[in-house]
Amino acid sequence: MTVTDPFDLLDIDSLLSDEERQIRETVARFVTDHVRPHVADWFEAGTFPRELAPELGKLGVLGMHLEGYGCAGTSAVAYGLACLELEAGDSGLRSFVSVQGSLAMFSIWKYGSEEQRREWLPRMAAGEAIGCFGLTEPDFGSDPANMRTRAVRDGGDWILNGSKMWITNGSIADVATVWAQTEDGIRGFLVPKDTPGFTTRTIKRKLSLRASITGELALDDVRLPGSAMLPGAAGLGAPLSCLSEARFGIVFGSVGAALDSLRTTIGYANNRIQFGRPIAAFQLTQGKLADMAVDLGTSALLALHLGRLKDAGRLKPHQISVGKLNNVRQALAIARECRGILGGSGITLEYSPLRHANNLESVVTYEGTSEIHTLVIGQTLTGHAAYR
Ligand SMILES: Cc1cc2nc3c(=O)[nH]c(=O)nc-3n(C[C@H](O)[C@H](O)[C@H](O)COP(=O)(O)OP(=O)(O)OC[C@H]3O[C@@H](n4cnc5c(N)ncnc54)[C@H](O)[C@@H]3O)c2cc1C
Repeated sequence: MTVTDPFDLLDIDSLLSDEERQIRETVARFVTDHVRPHVADWFEAGTFPRELAPELGKLGVLGMHLEGYGCAGTSAVAYGLACLELEAGDSGLRSFVSVQGSLAMFSIWKYGSEEQRREWLPRMAAGEAIGCFGLTEPDFGSDPANMRTRAVRDGGDWILNGSKMWITNGSIADVATVWAQTEDGIRGFLVPKDTPGFTTRTIKRKLSLRASITGELALDDVRLPGSAMLPGAAGLGAPLSCLSEARFGIVFGSVGAALDSLRTTIGYANNRIQFGRPIAAFQLTQGKLADMAVDLGTSALLALHLGRLKDAGRLKPHQISVGKLNNVRQALAIARECRGILGGSGITLEYSPLRHANNLESVVTYEGTSEIHTLVIGQTLTGHAAYR
């Protein structure tokens, strides 16, 4: 018996419902038709085509796990599978969808007023409006509690000052969810792009996540009406809950990057002849492929387990840390190993593994670094918070 696709090795698809399989196939087809033919060019040019946003809206993946306001209201597992297939295309594409749906839209859906939800969510679900999520600052990344961005009351208005760094979609967003210190603790604000005093800058010369726009936000005496504050978000727990949503997508998405790397590499190894045989026929190559397939399968099963817990309403933040830590670590190791099997061909954009590996260098850092997730698990096991 020959299993030609590494994902079929454990017959993981048999654990999915018909609807979940259908959503996965639909997103995979979209990626094959609309992303794979162009993604190397986007990566090389360091761009994310804005025109893709309404197409992703039509596909139904923007805020797809949210209920109402034009969102699809799918299960968490279905959302995860969509992230898997999007990231099999490119982590930049999955990042766009994660930031739009799980950070920007989720913050409005969960913590916004009815008026804010009606104003933004339907347009964001359709990809007509793009959102971003500004938590990280130049001096505060892993430790956002000490952020410097400040919002002070001025009559009925708010005045915001500060800056945000490494913000996905930052310079193409129509609205930014910006987190700031107030005299009542950390609160979230919706800042439309044309607000006076609000400027953005695209971060250039990235070596990773090049098919994604990353920006800086500057807030210089930005005056917002009282209605711009997210009324339900009080304290750091609010942005952290949004990050939990996005990390969940990464648990699945990173499996997609690893899957695409491994599929590409098995195909290459079967066709590349050295010493009169396909390199896939050498034991050392098979040892690498088998180890990677085992790690890929266990990552996929872990993602699915966490997805089922989320759909049952029982998923805990430290469990998401287990998933993000393991699956991104495994995906990065797989993409790098695949690059090696491709030899010299592996260093160009003709093959996906090094692009995935470079992208995963960002994925391992954002939404909580590996070190921070390790320490969250350590704290859960011991009761000691070693990161403080
Ligand atoms: C491409 C990209 C997109 C991003 N998109 C967004 C976005 O949309 N919105 C947003 O708000 N942010 C975004 N980020 C920011 C990201 O979340 C931060 O980069 C991340 O939280 C790490 O912060 P930092 O870069 O300041 O690193 P630091 O926090 O300075 O960490 C540097 C190193 O020190 C380690 N470290 C820090 N504290 C400890 C500790 N207590 N114990 C042990 N080790 C520690 C870290 O693990 C890391 O290895 C993005 C980042 C990138 C690269």
